[in-house]
Amino acid sequence: MRFFTAVASVLALTIVSLAGQLGAASDIASLADKHTGELVELYKHFHANPELSYFEQKTSERLADELSKAGYEVTHPVGKYPADKDYTCWGVVAVLKNGSGPTVLVRGDMDGLPITEKTGLPYASKVRMADISGEQVGVMHACGHYIHTTVLLGTARMLAELKDRWSGTVVIAGQTAEERGNGARALLADGLYERWPVPDYAIAEHTDPMLETGQVGYCPGWAMANVDMIDITIRGIGSHGARPHQGIDPIVLSAQVINALQTVVSRNINPIETGVVTVGSIHGGSKHNIIPDEVKLQLTVRSYKDQVRRRMLDAIERITINTARAAGVPEDRLPVITQRTEFTPALYNDPELTAETVAVLKTELGERNVIEIMPTTGGEDFSEFGRTDHKVPIFMMRLGTAPAGSRPGGRPGLHSALFYPVVEPTIRTGVVAMTTAVLNLLGK
Ligand SMILES: [Zn+2]
Ligand SMILES: [Zn+2]
Repeated sequence: MRFFTAVASVLALTIVSLAGQLGAASDIASLADKHTGELVELYKHFHANPELSYFEQKTSERLADELSKAGYEVTHPVGKYPADKDYTCWGVVAVLKNGSGPTVLVRGDMDGLPITEKTGLPYASKVRMADISGEQVGVMHACGHYIHTTVLLGTARMLAELKDRWSGTVVIAGQTAEERGNGARALLADGLYERWPVPDYAIAEHTDPMLETGQVGYCPGWAMANVDMIDITIRGIGSHGARPHQGIDPIVLSAQVINALQTVVSRNINPIETGVVTVGSIHGGSKHNIIPDEVKLQLTVRSYKDQVRRRMLDAIERITINTARAAGVPEDRLPVITQRTEFTPALYNDPELTAETVAVLKTELGERNVIEIMPTTGGEDFSEFGRTDHKVPIFMMRLGTAPAGSRPGGRPGLHSALFYPVVEPTIRTGVVAMTTAVLNLLGK
């Protein structure tokens, strides 16, 4: 990593702000301009042809092919899902070795979402495909992962052309199934840090409609949350709706459990820590006058620290089980609590790596375009790249997609059927930012 002295930073910032006023572009920006046209065409192709998590075959084949043409040593497919996910993992790993020096991993994800696009764009997705349950659904890149794929390729091309500027190894990781929380783990389970050089640093970008296009956001330390998904089956004893005393009503019991779960955060977690418990789904019963046998609940649980997470999960189990006991549910009919394997751990941006990268991004993009943002309780499995025993420092920056001058939050957000970015400046800024970050870590 190249360390700037305070004096050099001040000088550089002065030069950049002067350059900005004069409209001058750096050589990285000029090279990015050369690539942007072709990248936008590829972007539109990915936009119109999204693939759901676990099914990213064509997207990954195209990425692998383009990386190979750019001079990278490509392996595809890569990745091993957990045993209960019997799918080919379409991950891509591409390596460019360029002399001695550190290794930097650059990660981009590729999967779309089961949402029917409503943007009305000429290249809007009309794709429908079967999801993992076999149901036909509309598919859309509503989280901007195709932007990440495009930026990943653009960065790879730039670094191949700028080989005289750096020394070391670049590992490009095209990741699947981010929306299912299994793609990063699948790459690591297939030997990402054993079959290829262990990175000294790992970096990634994610789109952000709260920022304007041309801007990049950063959040040192805890930036995104642990995401747990929990299924609860509340079991009672069914009976006639007119004779509730002959059964145990799981609907009333579910209401009690849901209310009691509101104390998980408010009464169990230190108020200065972050926690969220949301019951997002409740299904039970079939008719007015039937007390059903069971009710199903689905919860999402968010936290940052591992010990807070553990305390919340324990509290959910304790409250649910013992509320059922209080209602007289027999021991062999107590609630069944299942934690999904699709867990995403909290994302911790290494503060030193973040600070070093932010310094060069400010120089390249201009001080006003590099903005410190608040942590969110959303999740991103890029976190996994920093959670192995190797303790690789990681940094995920946010890439602005909203039109310049638009009201923050006034545009459709991620996972909306109306989400789309301002195309050219977003791709260009993404490539410039990522290339700048890598060159800072590997620069001669
Ligand atoms: Zn998403
Ligand atoms: Zn995403």
